[in-house]
Amino acid sequence: MKDKCLALLNSRGVEMDDLIEIVMLLQEQYIDGLDKEEIRTDIYEILDKREVYHSIFTGIAIDVATEQKSLFDKELMGIIRHDEGLYGVDEVLAYGICNLYGSIALTNFGYVDKTKPGIIGILNDDPEHCHTFLDDIVGAIVASAASKLAHTHIRKEELI
Ligand code: MG
Repeated sequence: MKDKCLALLNSRGVEMDDLIEIVMLLQEQYIDGLDKEEIRTDIYEILDKREVYHSIFTGIAIDVATEQKSLFDKELMGIIRHDEGLYGVDEVLAYGICNLYGSIALTNFGYVDKTKPGIIGILNDDPEHCHTFLDDIVGAIVASAASKLAHTHIRKEELI
């Protein structure tokens, strides 16, 4: 399923390296010698979780339907297309991913939602496509990976 998930993300302009880049940014100050391959493995594991890929597929399905103007309600379509600040369902769907990875995922999600690093900013500024759900989904994936790494490395330190 993770391959189908990655292919879908790629089709919407998000590459694995884009995700790794943001996770590096979030965690390099806390973990000495942070390894990109470790991040890649963690992201694969996250994408392979049922709740995660269902959220990803659901969010992108709504983005694409909005882009193709095929949602049944015009008013709702307008709200999603313009990513109206008080809509918030995109963030709620993304929290579902973060909740699986604990409080560090939630705080990092809030941080990337505010600062919009890398591909998150690019998605947010893309005038041609609707990425209302995808920018939050990407934020949730990188925040979850940051949390997973933090917990792994805290454990390693405790064992020394
Ligand atoms: Mg959004």
